[in-house]
Amino acid sequence: MEQSLKGKTALVTGGSRGIGRACVMALADQGAAVVFTFLRNEKAAEEVTAAARETGAQVVSKKCDSRDASAVTQVVDDMVSQFGQLDILVLNAGTTSDQYLMLMTEEEFTKVIDTNLTGAFRFARAACRPMMTQKTGAIVTISSIASTFGVAGQANYCASKGGLVSLTRALAAELAPKGIRVNAVLPGFIETEMTAKMPRQTKMANKEKILLKRFGKAEEVAATVAFLVSDAASYIIGQAVVVDGGLTSTVS
Ligand code: NDP
Repeated sequence: MEQSLKGKTALVTGGSRGIGRACVMALADQGAAVVFTFLRNEKAAEEVTAAARETGAQVVSKKCDSRDASAVTQVVDDMVSQFGQLDILVLNAGTTSDQYLMLMTEEEFTKVIDTNLTGAFRFARAACRPMMTQKTGAIVTISSIASTFGVAGQANYCASKGGLVSLTRALAAELAPKGIRVNAVLPGFIETEMTAKMPRQTKMANKEKILLKRFGKAEEVAATVAFLVSDAASYIIGQAVVVDGGLTSTVS
């Protein structure tokens, strides 16, 4: 099989589980050397590292909280020292802390914004320097259909994901002249630990609304990410690409 990312280096945030794990696997499979971050799940990070190395790719995991600005800079600096370049950045790390507005604490709101939105800003800011020096790079943010559609009990999450799409478009405009493409991927309901927490009734009701009548797989999101960071997507920039099985494409 042709490896479209051979010779490239990729940094994936939140690569120990779910969509991030699938991105690590897909990018490694396409021949990229991959560094990925995780928050605390060392066992899962070791498992992903071992599995991704089976593709023959160099894979390194780094414990790094996206909320810690100096740790973020350190990960990017270490990666550039080790590999000499940073070609691909996938801003995937994310969290939820659902609560109705009148009960939501300032801490619950801030934690989600700090991880999902400000964390992405920190990594993009650190990574754009080496990418600008190289005059090439591809960044993909993992937003959500919650960026566009309101979800009761997720004011913090929706605000973070809407902000992430706006951040993506602003970065695309700013970094295009430097040879860096930035795009967002907006998944619908994907089978990961994040959606495993949903009540069964809510899952069933949402599945009914999806044209394909099923939740997506992390690999289906990762395949879109692998395409967007490849040269095959060289004319796609500043876009919000929806991967939701048709959930948001119809009204009834
Ligand atoms: P999971 O909960 O399965 O995995 C989350 C990943 O992010 C883990 O690797 C976790 O590390 C890491 N992480 C969480 N907080 C931090 C932090 N502060 N610093 C560094 N890493 C962190 O999530 P999913 O795979 O479901 O979601 C991945 C992304 O996709 C998220 O941004 C999510 O919002 C988005 N998304 C998911 C959808 C879904 O249906 N699943 C739908 C739409 C968007 P650790 O393992 O150490 O905890």
